[in-house]
Amino acid sequence: MYQKQIEDYFTEHKEEMLRDICTLIRIPSDKSEAKEGMPYGEGPAKAMDAAAKLAESLNFSVKNYENHVLTINLNEKPRQLDILAHLDVVPAGNGWTVTQPFEPVVKDGKLYGRGSADDKGPAIAALYAMKAVRDLQVPLSKSARLVLGGDEECGSSDMAYYYQRETEAPMTFSPDAAFPVINIEKGRFSTWVKAEWEQSSALPCIVSAHGGVKSNVVPDTAEAVLAGLSKEQVSACAQQAAKKTGIQFDLREENEKIYVTAHGECAHASMPGGGNNAITGLVVFLAGLPLPESKSRKALCGLNTLFPHGDWKGTAAGVAMRDEISGGLTMALDLFEFGPTGLKAFFDGRTPVCATNENLRDKFCAHAAELGLDVEKTEVSPAHHVPADSPFLRTLLHCYEQYAGRKGACIAIGGGTYCHHLKNGVGFGCALPETDNHMHGADEFAVVEELLLGAKIYAQAIIDLCS
Ligand SMILES: [Zn+2]
Repeated sequence: MYQKQIEDYFTEHKEEMLRDICTLIRIPSDKSEAKEGMPYGEGPAKAMDAAAKLAESLNFSVKNYENHVLTINLNEKPRQLDILAHLDVVPAGNGWTVTQPFEPVVKDGKLYGRGSADDKGPAIAALYAMKAVRDLQVPLSKSARLVLGGDEECGSSDMAYYYQRETEAPMTFSPDAAFPVINIEKGRFSTWVKAEWEQSSALPCIVSAHGGVKSNVVPDTAEAVLAGLSKEQVSACAQQAAKKTGIQFDLREENEKIYVTAHGECAHASMPGGGNNAITGLVVFLAGLPLPESKSRKALCGLNTLFPHGDWKGTAAGVAMRDEISGGLTMALDLFEFGPTGLKAFFDGRTPVCATNENLRDKFCAHAAELGLDVEKTEVSPAHHVPADSPFLRTLLHCYEQYAGRKGACIAIGGGTYCHHLKNGVGFGCALPETDNHMHGADEFAVVEELLLGAKIYAQAIIDLCS
């Protein structure tokens, strides 16, 4: 029921909705230094203020939780559904070509600007879904609440704050993902691998090496400084490593040292197969240098055995695993430091539902120990999983199928959303599964038709879940 009215409603209110999304995009709301009453800095607080004004102008009741989150209630009835979205964005970054990051434009059916897809567009689509349900005077017995956070991109402390004060709604979805329904978010197995040794002045040697900037990003560069080797020797090893890995090595000689930079391709740690890891490429190269036997060399070779270049499934570590509903384990080596007395490397592992401390951590640690490497103590944190056959998820899928005109299914992702710690929360839109909207990158966009589709689906879901 109501499909015709909802379709017509959004044909009529499309421009208004886009205008309001643009108003929010114009506010740079990446996290900055906390100020009094602004736990995430000025940007997120300003965005929350603008969203509150907008919601009030639409006659919704609004509550600001000290600029951690803003809530907007559909009605005064018992709360059945929380919709979790966020108003903070990642920093603007470089390389924008269509427009400036905070100057939204619509071009070829796409709305460009930082936050258009992640997550201001979907947040306002959800607000308009609530407005549609109310304006169409659909009789409801329960309420929905839009919860807009200000710290999703930097740790989600906003939702921790919210759930310290409010209970989890019986049902929750987050329009901060993709359609159809994301009911599994993989678990984590992430920690440091380490080795130590006595300092030595013997030559030739690796003076230092490092790579990676963030624990959840497969790095595109890594560097090393070498002493006591000729440029010819190093160049030959670099060529061999380049052939094996597809990593490009630049060499520079200065003050009798050789500076090596490895160039690969970055990727998100949840999808390491999309990149070419500069750290593991550099380790292949370093392990191939003609260096005398030593504890440091043994550790380096051990790391190369545990995380060989191109193996991001834990195969060499003896822990590769997968299951039907959540797919396979991924492991990305994202940070690396090598100094005079030790090395350490951080890996980001995304685990399927079947992973446990016994079948993953213990096996991995035993294998690392055989190679002379220590693993910093950690636990496998379990995957988030809402069973696909619940009436709630079946309703969401049905709404999606009804408006998108295609078959829906529940899917698993390696990344995490606000719903990761909720009992009955899932990712739900707002992009279609095939759309790459350059999230977190330059020229981020949302497809206008997908924002509208999302708003319609959310309106129907509110009606079906709150009637
Ligand atoms: Zn997001």
